[in-house]
Amino acid sequence: MFKYARLFVTSLIAAILSFCNDLTPGEQDVENFQDLLEILRCPHCVSGDTRKPGSDPGRLELVRNGSWLVCLEPDCQRKYPIKEEIPVMLIDEGDKWADVAIEDLPETSKLI
Ligand SMILES: [Zn+2]
Repeated sequence: MFKYARLFVTSLIAAILSFCNDLTPGEQDVENFQDLLEILRCPHCVSGDTRKPGSDPGRLELVRNGSWLVCLEPDCQRKYPIKEEIPVMLIDEGDKWADVAIEDLPETSKLI
């Protein structure tokens, strides 16, 4: 009887642990965002007077383990944080981080 109870508790803990693992950001999120990259573009480089030439300007690259998006246009370098899995695609936000080196970007969870 106790033997089965112990087995039950052990498998319950294992189930909880694997559930928690699913919630932590990791490679799975990076994969999901790769799909997103196919449609997301830097708002500065696709709109109005600041639109860059070419058929598909403002492509973005994931950096910092998938927590930041960087515009690939050479003279742009705007960076957009991904906060709680939502990319903040605002030009003002990108402006803030344009001059910050990728390695100096803060953890997005610490941003307000
Ligand atoms: Zn851009």
